Amino acid sequence: MGGFRVAVVGGGLIGLSVAAEVLRRRPGAEVIVFEKEDRVAAHQSGRNSGVVHAGLYYEPGSLKAQLCRRGVEELREFADAHGIAYQECGKVLVARDAAEERRLVDIRSRAEANGVPGVQMLGPDGLRDVEPHASGRAALHSPQTAIIDYGGVARALAALIAESGGEVRLSREVTALEEIPGGRVRVRTLWDAEDVDLAITCAGLQSDRLARAGGDDQDPAIVPFFGDYFVVAAPHDQLVRGLIYPVPDPRYPFLGVHITRHISGEVHLGPNAFLSFARERYAPGRIAVGDLAEVLRHPGFRRFARSNSAAALREIRTVLSRRSFVKEAAGLLPELEGARISRGPRGIRAQAMRADGRLEDDFVISAAGPVVHVRNAPSPGATSSPAIAEHIVERALSGVGG
Ligand SMILES: Cc1cc2nc3c(=O)[nH]c(=O)nc-3n(C[C@H](O)[C@H](O)[C@H](O)COP(=O)(O)OP(=O)(O)OC[C@H]3O[C@@H](n4cnc5c(N)ncnc54)[C@H](O)[C@@H]3O)c2cc1C
Repeated sequence: MGGFRVAVVGGGLIGLSVAAEVLRRRPGAEVIVFEKEDRVAAHQSGRNSGVVHAGLYYEPGSLKAQLCRRGVEELREFADAHGIAYQECGKVLVARDAAEERRLVDIRSRAEANGVPGVQMLGPDGLRDVEPHASGRAALHSPQTAIIDYGGVARALAALIAESGGEVRLSREVTALEEIPGGRVRVRTLWDAEDVDLAITCAGLQSDRLARAGGDDQDPAIVPFFGDYFVVAAPHDQLVRGLIYPVPDPRYPFLGVHITRHISGEVHLGPNAFLSFARERYAPGRIAVGDLAEVLRHPGFRRFARSNSAAALREIRTVLSRRSFVKEAAGLLPELEGARISRGPRGIRAQAMRADGRLEDDFVISAAGPVVHVRNAPSPGATSSPAIAEHIVERALSGVGG
């Protein structure tokens, strides 16, 4: 053993990828992943759309743009090497009016700048060749956008960490991170403490709390936004070949209700996006008083709510009425009207908000001495997870004499 000890907080895709990357670069290091739940991928990493995003939307040069493209390549290789289901089913972004068509042209330029392979504009006939039941006046086709079993990826990473000499400690909640003499860090859990040379927190919905507990800035804070999915019953599930998305509203960070074929074969509608009254409770209507109070006390939340009231109104309709939910999706796939749907999983997004009410669009990672915090890793965080890990670990190991 080199005697070099690393703690990773969070057993989601990013924490597990970080731990595997440390072990790859520093064989012999002692790596411990602390996860508070009794399994890996219990939150965002196991409750998402299952899409391997190709990198269409992101501001060229941003971390999202760079790390998403690299993440796609690495995920595909990882899936091949570990026998994890991965399918390039393709995606269409469907424009329904002239304004959306103009936005589609901008998205195509971004996609080209980001090096996304094979993207092509389609007219109504071209769209029907790809998705015979979809309807729109134009579409952008990304043939290599894929779907994957992210739960399978997380479990394979946990196995790889164990095989490489690391340890994933489940049901271990980290409560504090303290710098101690010698440039080291004490990681406290409810029961014990470990002294390490480097600590990297990848705590998703708890990332702001953990960063504050480690002495990092108050800003940004996490504001949770839930997204519900509905599962389409036969025969309407046969209307979809791959992934059908609306053109996103550039003022809003979420992609809009889309139609996704899952790696299991199921077809899901969703997710919508609305303020969640709890960070990690998934039953509709559940409230965690502390979580809600934190959002309402946030200095920027009111400003955010005021400037997004139109989008919030549209989203609340889909929260309150299944019919509105289906109607939203039927704007892309008209024959869905009348489809039978059943409630699927709910996911809750960890979205960082600045004190002035701006939502952080890009990934945010902060580092101070031997402690690194992932402060914002929303979609395409699952796609980008192996590349986010490389980005963090390369810098962190050079920073601590690695
Ligand atoms: C509805 C939805 C749809 C999405 N769709 C996609 C998609 O199709 N494609 C895509 O690329 N991305 C998608 N994303 C984003 C993607 O899921 C996330 O970016 C990614 O999973 C983030 O991984 P993570 O490891 O940071 O977070 P998480 O998976 O949330 O993991 C954080 C972990 O930290 C643990 N933890 C927290 N605090 C502590 C503590 N104090 N001690 C110990 N453990 C702790 C938690 O229990 C959790 O397991 C979606 C997200 C959502 C919510």
